Amino acid sequence: MFIHRLGVAAGGGFPPWNCTCTGCRKARAKSEIATKHAATAISGDGEHWFLLNATPDVRHQTAADPSLHPGPQIGATPVAGVLLTDAEFDHTIGLLMLREESALTAYATYPVLEALTSWRHSRLSGPSAEWEVGFRLEDKATGGSVVYAPTLHPWDAEFAEQVASADRVFLDGTFWTDDEMSIHGARALAALPAKRKIYPHINNTNPILDEGSQERRWLTGLGIEIGRAGLEVEV
Ligand SMILES: [Zn+2]
Repeated sequence: MFIHRLGVAAGGGFPPWNCTCTGCRKARAKSEIATKHAATAISGDGEHWFLLNATPDVRHQTAADPSLHPGPQIGATPVAGVLLTDAEFDHTIGLLMLREESALTAYATYPVLEALTSWRHSRLSGPSAEWEVGFRLEDKATGGSVVYAPTLHPWDAEFAEQVASADRVFLDGTFWTDDEMSIHGARALAALPAKRKIYPHINNTNPILDEGSQERRWLTGLGIEIGRAGLEVEV
């Protein structure tokens, strides 16, 4: 299974258009620090690809990765479908930009599909386990497994079982505002037996986006990676 990271930023991207914090100013001045919305492309054969969430940056994200370019026949695309973790705008609005594709299939829980098709905002009906899901992906040929849960809480018994037996894990790294929880979460992630542990979804206020930050160095020391665009993983 091939996994290509297409971006790492939570809603609004990094920097968002209206944020004046130090980190965002820095990212505006240095384009290599800026990053697109969090999304991933996965493929079992390297020819047919599925997007894990469709972000407002999807057009640029598919253009930046040669594996996702259309062709060789007119109208052909390697993008076979989209898997949605939830109905948040920054994870679904890209579906509108993929509208030219007539055979694109979107996979999501029933409440998410209902929210998208009836134009209700995802928060209107309150929290529910089915609003937000993670995916466990297994490659039958290699036996490799991946857990992809960019925004999923909490770390319950079922989730613990899933991540404990995965070869690669991509887990929520959105915020660093509650120190205790972030440090606890990072330690729990670092303790997993998976060969690679990656944060795929990070808010613009989170200091781990800055390579020079103390928090980022601490995570690197724990063996946790930031799933920036361009990162490729094979399982
Ligand atoms: Zn900011």
